[in-house]
Amino acid sequence: MLFIRTMLLVISASSVLVGQAWASGKLTAEQVSGNSVKPNLVIILTDDQGYNDVGFNGSPDIRTPNIDNIAAQGTRFTNGYVTFPVCGPSRAGLLTGRYQGRFGFTINPTIDPSVEQNGIPTSEKNIAEVLQPAGYKSAIIGKWHMGTHPDLRPNQRGFDFFYGFLSGGHRYFPEELTINDLGDVKNKFDWYKTRLLRNETREDISKYLTDELSDEAVEFIKREKDNPFFLYVAYNAPHAPVQATQEYLDRNQHIKDKKRRTYAAMISSVDDGVGRIMETLQQQGIDDNTLVVFLSDNGGAKTNGSDNGELRGHKNLLFEGGVRVPFAMRWPGKIPAGVDYHQPISSLDIMATIVSQANVDTSDNKPLDGVDLIPFLTGDIKGQPHDVLFWRHVKTDSHALRRGDDKIVHDRQGDYLFDMQNDFVEQDNLLPQKAAQYQTLEKEYQAWEAQLIDAIFPGLNHWPKTTSVKKSKKNKKKNKNKAKQK
Ligand code: CA
Repeated sequence: MLFIRTMLLVISASSVLVGQAWASGKLTAEQVSGNSVKPNLVIILTDDQGYNDVGFNGSPDIRTPNIDNIAAQGTRFTNGYVTFPVCGPSRAGLLTGRYQGRFGFTINPTIDPSVEQNGIPTSEKNIAEVLQPAGYKSAIIGKWHMGTHPDLRPNQRGFDFFYGFLSGGHRYFPEELTINDLGDVKNKFDWYKTRLLRNETREDISKYLTDELSDEAVEFIKREKDNPFFLYVAYNAPHAPVQATQEYLDRNQHIKDKKRRTYAAMISSVDDGVGRIMETLQQQGIDDNTLVVFLSDNGGAKTNGSDNGELRGHKNLLFEGGVRVPFAMRWPGKIPAGVDYHQPISSLDIMATIVSQANVDTSDNKPLDGVDLIPFLTGDIKGQPHDVLFWRHVKTDSHALRRGDDKIVHDRQGDYLFDMQNDFVEQDNLLPQKAAQYQTLEKEYQAWEAQLIDAIFPGLNHWPKTTSVKKSKKNKKKNKNKAKQK
């Protein structure tokens, strides 16, 4: 009897607590489903931002106080990886939680909207598609890059709201966005000039693109605060073209190099946006129930003024500078605050983490390659989340594998074995001394690669057939030379 009374007291006490929180706007009917509160997920993804280009990784010149707060109030990953060193395939891995080579997303896709295979195949489910049946509202704001065919666009792929553009990059100033639709694209990279899409409708913008995207992210949170939601803020900054407004350039006058200053200014705009997103979560009383993840889709590019610090290489390479990215996660009360986590983790883990934490049934899905990071971060599970991570880059005939502190890389220049514990800068190739060990790891890679399939769509250069002005000039010169030789 006493036991039953105690239980009744506990139940009514927790009902009162839930009721109070509900009344204060902290929890909603949709969030309190059964006995579990479904967490919101916010992914803030930047584009081509170098490992060293955030304050939390020690940037000497770029200031990111708001992005740094995610790490300071959460966990910073010093070995946070993406699955590919270039935009498209990296995003396909992040959004599905599966190595994108499993479904043939091996390259930046063509922008040609007539290609039905051009994106994540419908046989795969992305985060929004998995969360939708569980009552989530999802938005992608910014860069999609996961297919331009009408069946593959965000609204057909689980996203309730889309504000942004379909291609892999975009120009930043309103007056440059003059093309009404992909059908009007005549030259390569003119798709960077399309007017923005609000779901299926084209519209003009009035502000610098990054600021415009932040506005929409803030509005989405305000609109959907009473539902569990997934907000995917896919900033194209600081991807080329390197363009910034005077306001942000002024903030970076301490940087002498013009390209680096403009690149830094682009990140200043992102950082302001992150600050406003975090502030909005707090104002709506939902920041404790929101998992926020910040990362870049690949390492800093060679040409945009980025800095990968001591890491070797850059975008497009499988050395650390291409695939190890600034990566932090915040979830007050759920994961440790202000600490570093050094074990290798992956963008693949974001999907696995949210479906596990939200108790979403994924038994109908194909197996995920990521793992729920939360028990590893809290220390409930000892050991490392991944025994091994893999990378395949078909176009450059290269691949890599990291198992513990061992990493192998194969590219057209050669084969390498590095000790990541003592040589994370990948300068000391141990292959000559440890050939047998290299072979063992190479065999493990080959066994994994056997599970992958070839590219299912043509690459970026497939369309339109016309060449760019620059290329035409080059070809003219080539033809001239040929004529001379004759
Ligand atoms: Ca990128």
